[in-house]
Amino acid sequence: MSTSTPLPSTPAGKHALVYGGSITGLIAAGVLSRHFEHVTLVERDHFEHGPQARKGVPQASHAHSLLTRGLNVLDEVFPGFREDLKAAGGLILDMTEQHAWYMGGVWVPRGRIGLDFTCQSRPLLEWVIRQRLQALPNVTVRDGREVAGFQTSADKARVTGVRLQVPGGGQEETLEAGLVVDASGRGSRAPQWLEALGYPRVEESHIHIDVRYATRIYHRPRGFEPGWEILSISPRLPEQRKVGTIQRIEEDRWLVMLGGWLGEGPSPADDADFLEFARGLPQPHLYEALRNAEPLGPIHHYRFPHNQRRHYERMSRFPEGLAVMGDAFCSFNPIYGQGMTTGALQAQALGECLRQGLSGVAQRYRRQVGKLLQVPWSMATTGDLRIPEVEGRRPPGFALTNWYGDRFQRLATQNPEALRTFMRVMHMVESPAAMASPRTLLEVLTTWHASDPQRYAPKPMTVASNQPT
Ligand SMILES: Cc1cc2nc3c(=O)[nH]c(=O)nc-3n(C[C@H](O)[C@H](O)[C@H](O)COP(=O)(O)OP(=O)(O)OC[C@H]3O[C@@H](n4cnc5c(N)ncnc54)[C@H](O)[C@@H]3O)c2cc1C
Repeated sequence: MSTSTPLPSTPAGKHALVYGGSITGLIAAGVLSRHFEHVTLVERDHFEHGPQARKGVPQASHAHSLLTRGLNVLDEVFPGFREDLKAAGGLILDMTEQHAWYMGGVWVPRGRIGLDFTCQSRPLLEWVIRQRLQALPNVTVRDGREVAGFQTSADKARVTGVRLQVPGGGQEETLEAGLVVDASGRGSRAPQWLEALGYPRVEESHIHIDVRYATRIYHRPRGFEPGWEILSISPRLPEQRKVGTIQRIEEDRWLVMLGGWLGEGPSPADDADFLEFARGLPQPHLYEALRNAEPLGPIHHYRFPHNQRRHYERMSRFPEGLAVMGDAFCSFNPIYGQGMTTGALQAQALGECLRQGLSGVAQRYRRQVGKLLQVPWSMATTGDLRIPEVEGRRPPGFALTNWYGDRFQRLATQNPEALRTFMRVMHMVESPAAMASPRTLLEVLTTWHASDPQRYAPKPMTVASNQPT
């Protein structure tokens, strides 16, 4: 926690229980360990020792970028987290210094911008957080157990605990808790369980995008020095829909992700299509780097059907003692890289709500999260809704917002201050309002130099086929 916000001297309660031991649940348990005498984290999977992919997080084989704001929250909850991640093999880079990024039809200018960006596999990130959590003396981790339902008070006005079981059935046990946090991901069953208890069904917003991911790990070729550690080719929506990235990760490997909107992605039926797809990206650099590189494993495919937001903040009645968090509350198009950071911010918001005590925390928290989600939800869906085939209501002023956003992006390729603001907004360390300050507004409206889109392009480089790896 930051030194400016002192911790409560008396705990808010005796026992809190978090279920779902992925990124959100781990951070939530870390936050709650400061507010409760004891915290239990329940996870359906068995945790292996070390950074391992597991069944409950099928997205873990794919590229996971942690925004600067998310990294900052992790450092607050687990002081020294950056150092731990580095010690485990993760890289912490400056967002625009070691990142060659083709975005919106232009290469982004390179140079230090002061925003940290991490490069590691998703299992490594989760493993480093888990180790920090397990080192806390008042946290117990119960893996290989799933939550099968809520326990409530007789009048059902309060969730008082959960029913636990070995996955798939078996004898149940109950665990009481003053606060239960559902961090069980997109497939959370809280909507059904609450409905069965007599609460209204939570409203959901969906925006269908049919995003595809295909990811493969490669050896990072020795002697190949292109001047970047991350290479990203992002499309200029709506005309282009393909995306690709190479990220250096631990153990000197490359994690290569290819995919896109509305079904764009390498065919799962044909491994050769991976490289062919890379060749079809709007710039040649990724294909050039990859075509002779040596793969280390299979291609993993993932299909993400829709953005999903559950409006718990709108429910007319909601029990005390329960907080829904992370993907269980809202799950975004992964291409924008907001999921883990938004989960971390919700965990932090719960901590803030607990400063006023346990009483009423469920109501304060869900309303606060409803507000907190507005920015990332609108950032993700404004991008997606630019594609005409993506169905959904365009908010008033949608065309104007996009027009302004495009001009701002173009200004950012010419003006370092605008670039810094743009990146800070994207990394959620600054509000989008910063892009519309009176001075910026004037600059955006009066500057329109057609900049050379290739000005900051790295030289395309090919890995020599006989290169030692
Ligand atoms: C392809 C892809 C790429 C992504 N890339 C990024 C990215 O670059 N950056 C980013 O920030 N986000 C990204 N995301 C989103 C990110 O993966 C999630 O936002 C993040 O994992 C946080 O989710 P969570 O912890 O809320 O839930 P999840 O990660 O879904 O975890 C839920 C956990 O709950 C457990 N569980 C489920 N039910 C029960 C139960 N009944 N009892 C006990 N345990 C249970 C599961 O086993 C699992 O461990 C990506 C997502 C996808 C699909």
